[in-house]
Amino acid sequence: MREPVVGTVIEIPQGGGRVRKAVMNCSPIVDNVGRARGCLATFDDVTDLEEKNAELQRALNDLEASRNKIEEQNKELAVMAARDSLTGMLNRRAFFAEMEKIYAKALTEDIELCVIMADIDHFKSINDRFGHAVGDEAIKQMARIIASSVRGHDLVCRYGGEEFVIALPNTTVEKATEIAKRMRRRVEAEAGPGIRSVDGLQMTSSFGVSTIRFGGASVAELVDQADQALYAAKKSGRNRALRWDELDTSQQKAAAAGH
Ligand code: GH3
Ligand code: MG
Ligand code: MG
Repeated sequence: MREPVVGTVIEIPQGGGRVRKAVMNCSPIVDNVGRARGCLATFDDVTDLEEKNAELQRALNDLEASRNKIEEQNKELAVMAARDSLTGMLNRRAFFAEMEKIYAKALTEDIELCVIMADIDHFKSINDRFGHAVGDEAIKQMARIIASSVRGHDLVCRYGGEEFVIALPNTTVEKATEIAKRMRRRVEAEAGPGIRSVDGLQMTSSFGVSTIRFGGASVAELVDQADQALYAAKKSGRNRALRWDELDTSQQKAAAAGH
């Protein structure tokens, strides 16, 4: 053997199943004519080092796992912070944050953007007659009907107690009004019977519709127009959907004063 051997790992059994690890280096001892006369072998015990490395690796793995878990929990928290717990819809704050982006995009790209405000009729009397739990069921029924009447990229928000706001990008006001009217019909037909704990509950709702094309100069103004139309729908008998441009000036004034 004339070539040195460097870095060979060998395992030295210690009894009882334990093993020590060593790195072995060998270099030949040659005489003055180049003949190998012997060999110098060194053993470097790396058992402790290897154990420390393995420990470090385990700690790194644990750290990675807990970092992933925190990331998951942060995502869940972000979803929870944006949503209303009863209906799973966006809450008001999250709705306005999203709406600002959609509104800006609609303006720059000349896309139509409609808003529907919706509110359960005489909800207070549902609470008073059947209790708060049934009131909550009524809100859930309304939310279910709204969410299943719009498309995936529309925004649905629980605006307040039994009040909802829906944003429909890329939708004409005619289409948005049709959707509001369909929701109105569905609430009347499905919502009351959907509440299992009470027999024969009749539930209706009112809707107001507006569009960016009616000139609301901000998200707040656009939402306010839909709210004025909702207010007029309530005043003129409830269980109906009205468009903001259908309101005459006196209705607009009354709606504005009503807030
Ligand atoms: P209108 O037809 O004019 O809309 O009348 P309304 O009775 O529906 O409206 P009003 O604003 O007078 O009453 C709303 C009630 O909703 C008052 C409040 O106690 C109740 N409410 C608000 N949030 C909740 C909730 O989370 N659960 C339940 N069960 N009731 C709620
Ligand atoms: Mg109401
Ligand atoms: Mg209300």
